[in-house]
Amino acid sequence: MITEQIKSIKDLPLEENMFSGTPACAGCGGLLTLRHCLKMLGEKVVIVNAAGCFTLLSIYPFTPFRSSWLYTAMACAPAGAQGVRDALDILLEKGKIDPDENLKVVVLTGDGSAYDMGLSSTSGAIYRNLDFYYICYDNEAYGNTGFQESGSTPFASRTKTTSAGKEFAKKDLFEIWNSHKPPYLATISPAYPVDLANKFKKAEQYKGPKLFISLIPCPPGWSTDPSHTFKLAKLAVDTGVWALKESISGEVEHTVVPKKFKPVEDYLKEQGRFSHLFKPVRNEETLGKIQEMVNEYWKRYGILL
Ligand code: SF4
Repeated sequence: MITEQIKSIKDLPLEENMFSGTPACAGCGGLLTLRHCLKMLGEKVVIVNAAGCFTLLSIYPFTPFRSSWLYTAMACAPAGAQGVRDALDILLEKGKIDPDENLKVVVLTGDGSAYDMGLSSTSGAIYRNLDFYYICYDNEAYGNTGFQESGSTPFASRTKTTSAGKEFAKKDLFEIWNSHKPPYLATISPAYPVDLANKFKKAEQYKGPKLFISLIPCPPGWSTDPSHTFKLAKLAVDTGVWALKESISGEVEHTVVPKKFKPVEDYLKEQGRFSHLFKPVRNEETLGKIQEMVNEYWKRYGILL
């Protein structure tokens, strides 16, 4: 079933499945992404949350979610999701719950878990064709423990453990996942909610793993103003740093390609984690290398910046 496309922000569901008053930082781009994702997933959801920043969202007896929520260690959220999915399937098969009481199983992780510690259990779940959603809120470091380098930290970014800037590029998680050829895989952004919504609508058609990675501004880790979160998420896409794309059974297509790409510098100069590239003197070599890395990515798809 192909569902009708959402054309404008006015067509997004008004229903909220996550409420305010969470202990997350002001301006957390992950929270904004999650809000949009849950609007599309509805309330019949069980979230399997790998340890990370969002562990703090639901602490008994308080929760911002309409849905159920389960906590796992960093490495094993997809294994937890397998258990929940199996239990639901057994209850359905035995007639102990009605089909309309079925729940979508949703893994929620940060990049530390998705790119590093939980990669093997995610690979196993994709390989087993587990019917689940996977949402990674990627702030490009271990945010919950003070912003240490993760496999997702980009080249030249300062973190608590890369004080002079990281010396090599981030892992390409999209391509790692895509090599498994899951039914549906996409990158999303909180600054492009219509694109995000349509990807969830499309993913709904597929049984099996449906995976989403969202690059999310993180004010304390990126040293940015919390009020600039939306602007930064948009700049990441408009400069070509964060490519919005999807893959259906391994075939990749870009869903948003800026008409005119902005210089990558516009994105970098807004963030304290890259401030050493501009002060006390401009590091032309590194700035040029970052722009070249972005150009090279788009060239692979026949798009010149
Ligand atoms: S540290 Fe960053 S990712 Fe974690 S809750 Fe705060 S803003 Fe969000």
